[in-house]
Amino acid sequence: MTFLKKRYEALSVNPLFHGMEYTEDHAKLKDWIPLIMKNRSGSEQIAATKFEAGTDVNFGALTRMLFEHLKKNGVEIKYKHKVDDIRRTRDGDWELKVRAEGGGVERHAAKFVFIGGGGGSLHLLQKTGIPEGKHIGGFPVSGLFMSCNNPDVVAKHHAKVYGKAKVGAPPMSVPHLDTRFIDNKKSLLFGPFAGFSPKFLKTGSMFDLITSVKPHNLVTMMAAGAKNMSLTKYLIQQVMLSKEQRMEELREFVPDAKSEDWDLVVAGQRVQVIKDTAAGGKGTLQFGTEVVTAADGSVAALLGASPGASTAVSVMLNVINKCFPMQIQAWEPKLKEMIPSYGVSLLKNPAMLREIQASTAHSLGLSAVKPYQKAAGQPVS
Ligand SMILES: Cc1cc2nc3c(=O)[nH]c(=O)nc-3n(C[C@H](O)[C@H](O)[C@H](O)COP(=O)(O)OP(=O)(O)OC[C@H]3O[C@@H](n4cnc5c(N)ncnc54)[C@H](O)[C@@H]3O)c2cc1C
Repeated sequence: MTFLKKRYEALSVNPLFHGMEYTEDHAKLKDWIPLIMKNRSGSEQIAATKFEAGTDVNFGALTRMLFEHLKKNGVEIKYKHKVDDIRRTRDGDWELKVRAEGGGVERHAAKFVFIGGGGGSLHLLQKTGIPEGKHIGGFPVSGLFMSCNNPDVVAKHHAKVYGKAKVGAPPMSVPHLDTRFIDNKKSLLFGPFAGFSPKFLKTGSMFDLITSVKPHNLVTMMAAGAKNMSLTKYLIQQVMLSKEQRMEELREFVPDAKSEDWDLVVAGQRVQVIKDTAAGGKGTLQFGTEVVTAADGSVAALLGASPGASTAVSVMLNVINKCFPMQIQAWEPKLKEMIPSYGVSLLKNPAMLREIQASTAHSLGLSAVKPYQKAAGQPVS
């Protein structure tokens, strides 16, 4: 409670978090999170903060919309094609060897290559042979969730409720009870639990991990193994959990959760980046997203795990800045049109922040009361 209160006091004065609420009052908590408060004794000490702004973004749906837009603008998109190899040509450009599902091989030449293959990125980066791609490894961790199959329970929860990661657990393991809307269907998930598979993609190969170990990253990988014994222990414990043990963790959130209402689902694969850093030394495990660019800016690769989807725009701006330093000035007017806050600190410009929140809410069709309006006592439109 002390941690949460301090966190609330620090965040709520920040314009980006205006409107955040804190409570220890059971009646209010019952109103916010009835499923979590059901059957709890009045003497139990429990606190929560609430922030109204924010929504689910269906990254798959967004990707399909962006691809449709690109197609309409004449960009050729090839589905079910796999990039097998990326090589430098004699004149310094890149040649991609691409295999279509069913067998046909195509070769494409490019002056600039962006590798955005999720878990497939590390192998492709290694194929380029650029020095910046050396001494980097990847470690796959599966994300498992409990999914509620009882519509009555799903209907009782309407929030994303985050707890705190257990001591010794990695930051991406923060437990949460999460209402999600996928294609207008409401679902309720609890997790994540970590699982292990040597695959780098959900549909990858059992040899992904072993074939990613090269002479140049062997020491990096071994150092990571030796340094992260507590993480290895945590992963082994997670993999060994029985369904009932997972249910016990869920019952910290939903005290009367019934086993038959929940199924275990594998949500996806993350590949945590391992690299040598000045601060952490050899084989430091990274929990965020990493952009690796060649010194001449001709190739960039996006590696790493969550937060990925939510950082996509800032990652791309980073790539543009690093790989197209000569063009960026000419492109700025277009970037400002696309991203009105480009180059502006929203922290220092609350008026612009309010404008952007309002226009984003409008575009996403969110009609709820905006937190800044509540906080500032403004009339709600
Ligand atoms: C369980 C889980 C929960 C997550 N939750 C969140 C969250 O709440 N918020 C958030 O921001 N992020 C979250 N993430 C992370 C987020 O999903 C990823 O960061 C994001 O999907 C990465 O997008 P991407 O386009 O880079 O890669 P991907 O979505 O993995 O797409 C890469 C594509 O490239 C293809 N590909 C790979 N290799 C090749 C090749 N050789 N040739 C051709 N195609 C290839 C793959 O088949 C795939 O279609 C979560 C991830 C997991 C696993």
